[in-house]
Amino acid sequence: MIPFLSFASRNKDIKNEILTVFESFFDSESYVLGRCTSEFEQNYAKFSEAAYCVGVGNGLDALQLALVSLGIGSGDEVIIPSNTYIATVLAVSYVGATPIFVEPNINTFNINPNLIENAITPKTKAILPVHLYGQACEMDKIMIIAQKYKLWVIEDNAQAHLATFQGKKTGSFGDINATSFYPSKNLGAFGEGGAITTNNLNLYNKCKMLRNYGSKERYYNELIGFNKRIDECQAAFLNVSLGYLNKWTEERKRIAAWYDYYLSGIKGITLPIVEKGASHVYHLYVIRTPKREQLQRYLSSKNISTLIHYPIPPHLQLAYKHLGYKKGDFLIAEELADTCLSLPIFLGMEEWQVKHVAHEISTFLKNAN
Ligand SMILES: *Cc1c(COP(=O)(O)O)cnc(C)c1O
Repeated sequence: MIPFLSFASRNKDIKNEILTVFESFFDSESYVLGRCTSEFEQNYAKFSEAAYCVGVGNGLDALQLALVSLGIGSGDEVIIPSNTYIATVLAVSYVGATPIFVEPNINTFNINPNLIENAITPKTKAILPVHLYGQACEMDKIMIIAQKYKLWVIEDNAQAHLATFQGKKTGSFGDINATSFYPSKNLGAFGEGGAITTNNLNLYNKCKMLRNYGSKERYYNELIGFNKRIDECQAAFLNVSLGYLNKWTEERKRIAAWYDYYLSGIKGITLPIVEKGASHVYHLYVIRTPKREQLQRYLSSKNISTLIHYPIPPHLQLAYKHLGYKKGDFLIAEELADTCLSLPIFLGMEEWQVKHVAHEISTFLKNAN
Protein backbone atom coordinates (compact mmCIF):
# COMPACT_ATOMS: atom_id res chain seq x y z
CA MET A 1 0.00 0.00 0.00
CA ILE A 2 1.49 3.36 -1.05
CA PRO A 3 -0.44 6.35 0.31
CA PHE A 4 -0.64 9.63 -1.56
CA LEU A 5 0.62 11.48 1.47
CA SER A 6 1.92 10.62 4.92
CA PHE A 7 3.05 12.88 7.73
CA ALA A 8 4.80 10.09 9.63
CA SER A 9 8.40 10.90 8.69
CA ARG A 10 7.98 14.66 9.10
CA ASN A 11 6.26 14.22 12.44
CA LYS A 12 9.03 11.95 13.67
CA ASP A 13 11.60 14.65 12.83
CA ILE A 14 9.92 17.28 14.96
CA LYS A 15 7.69 15.59 17.54
CA ASN A 16 9.86 16.28 20.60
CA GLU A 17 10.52 19.89 19.64
CA ILE A 18 6.81 20.46 18.92
CA LEU A 19 5.84 19.13 22.33
CA THR A 20 8.44 21.36 23.97
CA VAL A 21 7.32 24.53 22.19
CA PHE A 22 3.71 23.65 22.88
CA GLU A 23 4.46 23.58 26.57
CA SER A 24 6.21 26.94 26.47
CA PHE A 25 3.37 28.40 24.36
CA PHE A 26 0.91 27.03 26.92
CA ASP A 27 2.82 28.46 29.85
CA SER A 28 3.36 31.84 28.15
CA GLU A 29 -0.30 32.83 28.65
CA SER A 30 0.06 34.85 25.47
CA TYR A 31 -2.26 33.20 22.97
CA VAL A 32 -2.81 35.73 20.18
CA LEU A 33 -0.14 37.70 18.24
CA GLY A 34 2.51 36.97 20.83
CA ARG A 35 6.22 36.27 20.71
CA CYS A 36 5.85 33.07 18.61
CA THR A 37 4.10 35.01 15.84
CA SER A 38 6.69 37.78 15.66
CA GLU A 39 9.54 35.25 15.75
CA PHE A 40 7.97 33.22 12.99
CA GLU A 41 7.34 36.31 10.88
CA GLN A 42 10.98 37.34 11.15
CA ASN A 43 12.20 33.82 10.37
CA TYR A 44 9.86 33.31 7.44
CA ALA A 45 10.73 36.71 5.93
CA LYS A 46 14.40 35.75 6.12
CA PHE A 47 13.72 32.36 4.50
CA SER A 48 11.75 33.98 1.70
CA GLU A 49 14.39 36.69 1.23
CA ALA A 50 11.62 39.26 1.63
CA ALA A 51 11.87 42.24 3.95
CA TYR A 52 8.61 41.65 5.82
CA CYS A 53 6.14 38.92 6.70
CA VAL A 54 2.66 39.10 8.20
CA GLY A 55 1.19 35.87 9.57
CA VAL A 56 -2.48 35.36 8.76
CA GLY A 57 -5.18 32.73 9.19
CA ASN A 58 -4.65 30.76 5.97
CA GLY A 59 -3.61 31.10 2.33
CA LEU A 60 -6.93 32.45 1.15
CA ASP A 61 -6.78 35.17 3.83
CA ALA A 62 -3.29 36.06 2.65
CA LEU A 63 -4.44 36.44 -0.95
CA GLN A 64 -7.49 38.47 0.06
CA LEU A 65 -5.55 40.84 2.34
CA ALA A 66 -2.89 41.31 -0.33
CA LEU A 67 -5.57 42.43 -2.80
CA VAL A 68 -7.30 44.66 -0.23
CA SER A 69 -4.01 46.30 0.77
CA LEU A 70 -3.42 47.27 -2.87
CA GLY A 71 -6.86 48.84 -3.07
CA ILE A 72 -8.05 46.38 -5.70
CA GLY A 73 -11.82 46.10 -5.82
CA SER A 74 -14.99 46.49 -7.80
CA GLY A 75 -14.45 47.28 -11.48
CA ASP A 76 -10.85 46.08 -11.45
CA GLU A 77 -9.44 43.09 -13.31
CA VAL A 78 -6.80 40.69 -12.01
CA ILE A 79 -4.92 38.35 -14.32
CA ILE A 80 -4.61 34.78 -13.01
CA PRO A 81 -3.78 31.41 -14.56
CA SER A 82 -6.74 29.46 -15.99
CA ASN A 83 -5.62 26.25 -14.23
CA THR A 84 -5.11 27.47 -10.68
CA TYR A 85 -6.55 26.18 -7.43
CA ILE A 86 -9.92 27.79 -6.68
CA ALA A 87 -8.56 29.86 -3.74
CA THR A 88 -6.76 32.22 -6.14
CA VAL A 89 -10.01 32.94 -7.96
CA LEU A 90 -12.05 33.26 -4.76
CA ALA A 91 -9.71 35.91 -3.36
CA VAL A 92 -10.22 38.03 -6.48
CA SER A 93 -13.99 37.58 -6.19
CA TYR A 94 -14.02 38.46 -2.49
CA VAL A 95 -12.68 41.97 -3.17
CA GLY A 96 -15.23 42.44 -5.94
CA ALA A 97 -12.72 42.35 -8.80
CA THR A 98 -13.00 40.21 -11.94
CA PRO A 99 -10.65 37.27 -12.53
CA ILE A 100 -9.18 37.28 -16.05
CA PHE A 101 -7.87 33.84 -16.96
CA VAL A 102 -4.66 33.38 -18.92
CA GLU A 103 -3.69 29.93 -20.17
CA PRO A 104 -0.66 28.11 -18.78
CA ASN A 105 2.32 26.72 -20.60
CA ILE A 106 1.27 23.09 -21.13
CA ASN A 107 4.75 21.82 -20.21
CA THR A 108 5.25 23.67 -16.92
CA PHE A 109 1.60 24.11 -15.80
CA ASN A 110 2.49 27.75 -14.99
CA ILE A 111 0.95 30.90 -16.49
CA ASN A 112 2.30 31.56 -19.99
CA PRO A 113 3.92 35.02 -19.87
CA ASN A 114 3.61 35.35 -23.65
CA LEU A 115 -0.18 35.41 -23.34
CA ILE A 116 -0.43 37.98 -20.55
CA GLU A 117 -0.20 41.19 -22.62
CA ASN A 118 -3.21 40.17 -24.72
CA ALA A 119 -5.33 39.95 -21.56
CA ILE A 120 -4.46 43.43 -20.30
CA THR A 121 -7.20 46.07 -20.53
CA PRO A 122 -7.55 49.57 -19.01
CA LYS A 123 -9.21 47.84 -16.02
CA THR A 124 -6.29 45.53 -15.28
CA LYS A 125 -4.73 46.26 -11.90
CA ALA A 126 -2.59 43.24 -11.13
CA ILE A 127 -1.01 40.02 -12.33
CA LEU A 128 -1.35 37.13 -9.90
CA PRO A 129 0.99 34.29 -10.95
CA VAL A 130 0.74 30.95 -9.11
CA HIS A 131 3.85 28.82 -8.65
CA LEU A 132 1.84 25.70 -9.31
CA TYR A 133 2.87 22.30 -7.92
CA GLY A 134 6.08 23.89 -6.58
CA GLN A 135 7.66 25.23 -9.77
CA ALA A 136 8.55 28.92 -9.93
CA CYS A 137 6.85 30.93 -12.69
CA GLU A 138 8.91 32.81 -15.27
CA MET A 139 9.13 35.85 -13.02
CA ASP A 140 11.57 37.79 -15.22
CA LYS A 141 9.05 38.09 -18.04
CA ILE A 142 6.13 38.70 -15.69
CA MET A 143 7.93 41.54 -13.88
CA ILE A 144 8.85 43.21 -17.17
CA ILE A 145 5.21 43.17 -18.34
CA ALA A 146 4.05 44.48 -14.94
CA GLN A 147 6.51 47.36 -15.12
CA LYS A 148 5.57 48.19 -18.68
CA TYR A 149 1.85 48.42 -17.87
CA LYS A 150 2.27 49.66 -14.26
CA LEU A 151 0.50 46.66 -12.77
CA TRP A 152 0.87 45.21 -9.31
CA VAL A 153 2.29 41.71 -8.97
CA ILE A 154 0.95 39.35 -6.31
CA GLU A 155 2.58 35.91 -6.14
CA ASP A 156 0.53 32.95 -4.96
CA ASN A 157 3.33 31.02 -3.30
CA ALA A 158 1.15 28.49 -1.45
CA GLN A 159 2.77 25.50 -3.17
CA ALA A 160 6.33 26.67 -3.63
CA HIS A 161 8.06 27.61 -0.36
CA LEU A 162 11.81 27.94 -1.09
CA ALA A 163 11.47 27.63 -4.87
CA THR A 164 13.58 30.06 -6.89
CA PHE A 165 13.64 31.77 -10.26
CA GLN A 166 17.12 32.75 -11.44
CA GLY A 167 18.31 32.15 -7.89
CA LYS A 168 15.76 34.47 -6.27
CA LYS A 169 13.13 33.05 -3.91
CA THR A 170 9.47 32.92 -4.86
CA GLY A 171 7.48 35.20 -2.58
CA SER A 172 10.10 37.94 -2.95
CA PHE A 173 9.37 39.16 -6.50
CA GLY A 174 5.88 40.61 -6.26
CA ASP A 175 4.74 43.83 -4.61
CA ILE A 176 2.99 41.61 -2.11
CA ASN A 177 2.79 37.84 -1.96
CA ALA A 178 0.67 35.19 -0.31
CA THR A 179 1.39 31.73 0.98
CA SER A 180 -0.38 28.95 2.86
CA PHE A 181 0.71 26.62 5.63
CA TYR A 182 -2.14 24.16 5.18
CA PRO A 183 -0.88 20.87 6.66
CA SER A 184 -0.09 19.21 3.32
CA LYS A 185 1.88 22.16 1.93
CA ASN A 186 5.69 21.93 1.86
CA LEU A 187 5.76 24.03 5.03
CA GLY A 188 2.66 22.83 6.81
CA ALA A 189 1.10 23.74 10.13
CA PHE A 190 -0.88 21.41 12.41
CA GLY A 191 -4.03 23.22 11.46
CA GLU A 192 -4.53 26.43 9.48
CA GLY A 193 -1.97 29.10 8.72
CA GLY A 194 -0.83 31.51 6.04
CA ALA A 195 1.41 34.51 5.47
CA ILE A 196 1.98 37.60 3.40
CA THR A 197 5.50 38.57 2.33
CA THR A 198 6.50 41.95 0.92
CA ASN A 199 9.40 44.33 0.52
CA ASN A 200 7.09 47.33 0.81
CA LEU A 201 6.94 48.87 4.30
CA ASN A 202 3.60 50.61 3.62
CA LEU A 203 1.91 47.42 2.49
CA TYR A 204 3.42 45.59 5.43
CA ASN A 205 1.99 48.07 7.91
CA LYS A 206 -1.35 48.05 6.16
CA CYS A 207 -1.61 44.24 6.21
CA LYS A 208 -0.66 44.13 9.89
CA MET A 209 -3.60 46.41 10.59
CA LEU A 210 -5.97 44.69 8.16
CA ARG A 211 -5.51 41.27 9.76
CA ASN A 212 -6.26 42.72 13.20
CA TYR A 213 -9.49 44.75 12.92
CA GLY A 214 -7.74 47.57 11.09
CA SER A 215 -5.97 48.74 14.20
CA LYS A 216 -2.38 49.39 15.17
CA GLU A 217 -3.24 50.43 18.67
CA ARG A 218 -5.95 48.48 20.43
CA TYR A 219 -9.43 50.06 20.13
CA TYR A 220 -8.23 52.66 17.57
CA ASN A 221 -9.45 51.50 14.16
CA GLU A 222 -7.87 53.19 11.15
CA LEU A 223 -9.13 50.76 8.51
CA ILE A 224 -12.16 48.53 8.03
CA GLY A 225 -10.15 45.45 8.87
CA PHE A 226 -10.72 41.78 9.46
CA ASN A 227 -9.85 39.16 12.00
CA LYS A 228 -7.37 37.14 9.97
CA ARG A 229 -4.63 36.67 12.55
CA ILE A 230 -2.32 33.69 12.44
CA ASP A 231 -2.87 31.31 15.34
CA GLU A 232 -0.13 31.83 17.92
CA CYS A 233 0.21 28.12 18.58
CA GLN A 234 0.57 27.35 14.87
CA ALA A 235 3.22 30.06 14.59
CA ALA A 236 5.12 28.29 17.38
CA PHE A 237 4.90 24.98 15.50
CA LEU A 238 5.85 26.61 12.19
CA ASN A 239 8.99 28.02 13.79
CA VAL A 240 10.09 24.48 14.50
CA SER A 241 9.25 23.19 11.01
CA LEU A 242 10.99 26.12 9.33
CA GLY A 243 14.26 24.81 10.74
CA TYR A 244 13.77 21.63 8.70
CA LEU A 245 12.46 23.16 5.49
CA ASN A 246 15.77 23.14 3.61
CA LYS A 247 16.31 19.48 4.44
CA TRP A 248 12.71 18.57 3.61
CA THR A 249 12.87 20.43 0.30
CA GLU A 250 16.04 18.54 -0.66
CA GLU A 251 14.28 15.30 0.16
CA ARG A 252 11.31 16.18 -2.07
CA LYS A 253 13.70 16.97 -4.91
CA ARG A 254 15.43 13.62 -4.40
CA ILE A 255 12.12 11.74 -4.58
CA ALA A 256 11.17 13.66 -7.74
CA ALA A 257 14.55 12.78 -9.28
CA TRP A 258 13.81 9.08 -8.61
CA TYR A 259 10.50 9.49 -10.43
CA ASP A 260 12.23 11.26 -13.33
CA TYR A 261 14.68 8.36 -13.53
CA TYR A 262 12.29 5.42 -13.19
CA LEU A 263 9.57 6.97 -15.38
CA SER A 264 11.87 8.12 -18.16
CA GLY A 265 11.32 6.36 -21.46
CA ILE A 266 7.83 5.09 -20.58
CA LYS A 267 5.63 5.77 -23.61
CA GLY A 268 2.23 7.37 -23.08
CA ILE A 269 3.07 9.72 -20.22
CA THR A 270 4.50 13.23 -20.01
CA LEU A 271 6.75 14.03 -17.05
CA PRO A 272 6.91 17.43 -15.33
CA ILE A 273 9.24 19.78 -17.17
CA VAL A 274 11.22 22.44 -15.33
CA GLU A 275 11.66 25.74 -17.14
CA LYS A 276 15.14 27.17 -17.63
CA GLY A 277 15.97 29.41 -14.68
CA ALA A 278 13.21 27.95 -12.50
CA SER A 279 13.55 25.59 -9.59
CA HIS A 280 10.88 23.11 -8.54
CA VAL A 281 10.24 22.09 -4.93
CA TYR A 282 7.75 19.35 -5.86
CA HIS A 283 4.81 20.10 -3.67
CA LEU A 284 3.26 17.69 -6.18
CA TYR A 285 4.72 15.40 -8.82
CA VAL A 286 2.24 15.63 -11.69
CA ILE A 287 2.38 13.53 -14.85
CA ARG A 288 0.00 13.65 -17.80
CA THR A 289 -1.59 10.90 -19.85
CA PRO A 290 -4.65 10.66 -22.09
CA LYS A 291 -5.45 7.38 -20.27
CA ARG A 292 -5.63 9.15 -16.93
CA GLU A 293 -8.90 7.63 -15.64
CA GLN A 294 -7.86 4.06 -16.48
CA LEU A 295 -4.37 4.56 -15.06
CA GLN A 296 -5.70 6.00 -11.83
CA ARG A 297 -8.12 3.09 -11.46
CA TYR A 298 -5.37 0.58 -12.20
CA LEU A 299 -2.99 2.12 -9.66
CA SER A 300 -5.76 2.18 -7.09
CA SER A 301 -6.35 -1.55 -7.69
CA LYS A 302 -2.64 -2.01 -6.91
CA ASN A 303 -3.05 -0.01 -3.66
CA ILE A 304 -1.27 3.07 -4.99
CA SER A 305 -3.13 6.29 -4.16
CA THR A 306 -3.10 9.18 -6.61
CA LEU A 307 -5.02 12.45 -6.83
CA ILE A 308 -6.08 14.91 -9.52
CA HIS A 309 -5.04 18.55 -9.14
CA TYR A 310 -7.49 19.73 -10.35
CA PRO A 311 -10.35 17.91 -12.10
CA ILE A 312 -12.36 21.03 -13.06
CA PRO A 313 -10.75 24.32 -14.12
CA PRO A 314 -12.14 27.44 -12.41
CA HIS A 315 -13.97 28.77 -15.48
CA LEU A 316 -16.12 25.61 -15.55
CA GLN A 317 -16.91 25.56 -11.82
CA LEU A 318 -20.55 26.05 -10.87
CA ALA A 319 -19.53 28.90 -8.56
CA TYR A 320 -18.29 30.84 -11.61
CA LYS A 321 -21.26 30.16 -13.90
CA HIS A 322 -22.06 33.89 -13.84
CA LEU A 323 -18.83 34.67 -15.69
CA GLY A 324 -20.43 33.01 -18.70
CA TYR A 325 -17.59 30.75 -19.77
CA LYS A 326 -18.14 27.42 -21.49
CA LYS A 327 -16.17 24.32 -22.32
CA GLY A 328 -13.61 25.15 -24.98
CA ASP A 329 -12.84 28.66 -23.70
CA PHE A 330 -9.54 27.65 -22.05
CA LEU A 331 -8.40 24.61 -23.96
CA ILE A 332 -5.05 24.14 -22.21
CA ALA A 333 -6.54 24.33 -18.72
CA GLU A 334 -9.20 21.85 -19.82
CA GLU A 335 -6.62 19.52 -21.36
CA LEU A 336 -4.57 19.61 -18.15
CA ALA A 337 -7.66 18.93 -16.04
CA ASP A 338 -8.46 15.90 -18.22
CA THR A 339 -4.96 14.41 -18.32
CA CYS A 340 -3.04 15.28 -15.14
CA LEU A 341 -2.34 12.79 -12.37
CA SER A 342 -0.49 13.53 -9.13
CA LEU A 343 1.67 10.63 -7.96
CA PRO A 344 2.43 9.92 -4.30
CA ILE A 345 5.15 12.16 -2.90
CA PHE A 346 5.82 12.66 0.80
CA LEU A 347 8.73 12.93 3.18
CA GLY A 348 10.01 9.50 4.06
CA MET A 349 9.03 7.99 0.70
CA GLU A 350 11.66 5.45 -0.26
CA GLU A 351 13.30 4.70 -3.56
CA TRP A 352 11.74 1.22 -3.81
CA GLN A 353 8.29 2.78 -3.47
CA VAL A 354 8.95 5.20 -6.33
CA LYS A 355 10.35 2.35 -8.39
CA HIS A 356 7.27 0.28 -7.64
CA VAL A 357 4.89 3.09 -8.69
CA ALA A 358 6.87 3.56 -11.90
CA HIS A 359 6.82 -0.19 -12.55
CA GLU A 360 3.03 -0.35 -12.19
CA ILE A 361 2.59 2.67 -14.49
CA SER A 362 4.82 1.02 -17.06
CA THR A 363 2.95 -2.31 -16.79
CA PHE A 364 -0.40 -0.59 -17.25
CA LEU A 365 0.70 1.44 -20.27
CA LYS A 366 2.31 -1.55 -21.99
CA ASN A 367 -0.95 -3.50 -21.74
CA ALA A 368 -3.07 -0.47 -22.66
CA ASN A 369 -1.19 0.23 -25.90
C1 LIG B 1 -3.53 25.80 -0.70
C2 LIG B 1 -3.61 26.90 -1.69
C3 LIG B 1 -4.22 28.13 -1.40
C4 LIG B 1 -5.07 28.37 -0.18
O1 LIG B 1 -4.49 28.08 1.01
P1 LIG B 1 -5.40 27.77 2.29
O2 LIG B 1 -4.44 27.85 3.42
O3 LIG B 1 -6.00 26.42 2.10
O4 LIG B 1 -6.44 28.83 2.38
C5 LIG B 1 -4.15 29.13 -2.34
N1 LIG B 1 -3.53 28.95 -3.52
C6 LIG B 1 -2.95 27.78 -3.85
C7 LIG B 1 -2.26 27.66 -5.16
C8 LIG B 1 -2.98 26.71 -2.94
O5 LIG B 1 -2.41 25.56 -3.30
